[in-house]
Amino acid sequence: MSAARSTGPLDLDGSVLVVGSGLGGLRSAEGLRAGGFRGSITMLGAESRLPYDRPPLTKQLLAGAWDEARIQLASAESLEERGIDVELGVPASSLDAAARTVHLADGRSLHADAVVLATGASPRWLPGTEGATGVHVVRTIAQSIALRDELDALGGTGRVVVIGGGFIGSEVASTAHAKGLAVTILEALDVPFGPVVGDEVGGWLTELHRRAGIEVRTGVAVAHVHGRTESTTAVELATGERLAADAVVIGIGVRPATEWLEGSGLMIADGVVTDEALFAADSVVAVGDLARFSWRRAIGTDDVRIEHWEVTAQLASHAAASLLAGRPAASAVSLVPYFWSDQHGRKIQMLGRPAATDEILHVAGSLDEAKFTVLYHRGGRVTGVLGVASPRHVMVCRPFVDAGAPIAEAMALFESA
Ligand SMILES: Cc1cc2nc3c(=O)[nH]c(=O)nc-3n(C[C@H](O)[C@H](O)[C@H](O)COP(=O)(O)OP(=O)(O)OC[C@H]3O[C@@H](n4cnc5c(N)ncnc54)[C@H](O)[C@@H]3O)c2cc1C
Repeated sequence: MSAARSTGPLDLDGSVLVVGSGLGGLRSAEGLRAGGFRGSITMLGAESRLPYDRPPLTKQLLAGAWDEARIQLASAESLEERGIDVELGVPASSLDAAARTVHLADGRSLHADAVVLATGASPRWLPGTEGATGVHVVRTIAQSIALRDELDALGGTGRVVVIGGGFIGSEVASTAHAKGLAVTILEALDVPFGPVVGDEVGGWLTELHRRAGIEVRTGVAVAHVHGRTESTTAVELATGERLAADAVVIGIGVRPATEWLEGSGLMIADGVVTDEALFAADSVVAVGDLARFSWRRAIGTDDVRIEHWEVTAQLASHAAASLLAGRPAASAVSLVPYFWSDQHGRKIQMLGRPAATDEILHVAGSLDEAKFTVLYHRGGRVTGVLGVASPRHVMVCRPFVDAGAPIAEAMALFESA
């Protein structure tokens, strides 16, 4: 191990610290091993659990269909076999990026040849709500189980108010509704999902909720959430209206977990800023929900931070390859963003990263069938595709989205179908 600054390829017998034991941390460690790294890997995690998958926290785990074991991403034995040491339940408290030294909350300091930053993101609470009884966010397994138990205790009769109509809020709403509960979504925007999928498609996705029996109130401002310690749980709107609830769930987005990186010498701007190869500094890479990376694609280069499962997995394996290659030789990350969401028994999938202002073309299905596909385009070139219950249509568009192909070429696929 050397404290000297290093820009070259990682010594295959050297040492790596992976900070964060979620999907990004685990896949980075696995990527290093897959790339032939024989040295020591230590993965640090603030949570005391082995790496687990987050998408089921608002879906199968919250529904009660899957148990905790099913969402574990790696067993202690498989980590040990691959020589990935884990230190759980101790958060990193600071980093000296130039020295590649991580300081832990328990007072220890660890040094390595390279550091992977994978601390993800933390959910936002409304002021005064954190820790209030009956008020929830869902980011960790413990939070999902706490909400599941509270919803199940209602025995199929009760009211859930979900603040925030984005994907997390929508999935919680859908899962709670399937448990027989009355659900109201409160959304500050006039069109939920509008900034992500555009207003027209956002309107259709909202309509799917309404048709399923969920009340969606848009353009509303929440003034205060009363936790159960103050009589009943209730949400007070800016208008003074008070909505009683048996449980309140807040899904208003996340903040990248960068607090511990203040003073590290890294550039922080709504995430850890990296170059195209995911280096935040020499021998320091960032991945997953934490990373704001420079993304070169067919229609131009953007600085992006993308909170999707598949993007996290791809960034992690790319970051491992970047460390192994060394900064001068590392290549730019290349990916087609993909996410899915499950709501009311339907899969919503999106490929690409269209702007909300991109034009859309409705190419298959209809809102009435609750099954449709839309293509996004800008300047005549494909920027994305979104499908509801249409996986084949979405996947067949991947090369067109990747290449930013002329919209006419992608439309021809559907015209000939
Ligand atoms: C409820 C939910 C549902 C989702 N559903 C979907 C979906 O349907 N489709 C989709 O594409 N994506 C989905 N996602 C997004 C996807 O799960 C994330 O993009 C992915 O988990 C990001 O991985 P990550 O490793 O960057 O962060 P995380 O998974 O958040 O892992 C980061 C880890 O770092 C730890 N940590 C934080 N600070 C420190 C510190 N200082 N020291 C040490 N450890 C620290 C955290 O405790 C955490 O364990 C969902 C996310 C959530 C929360």
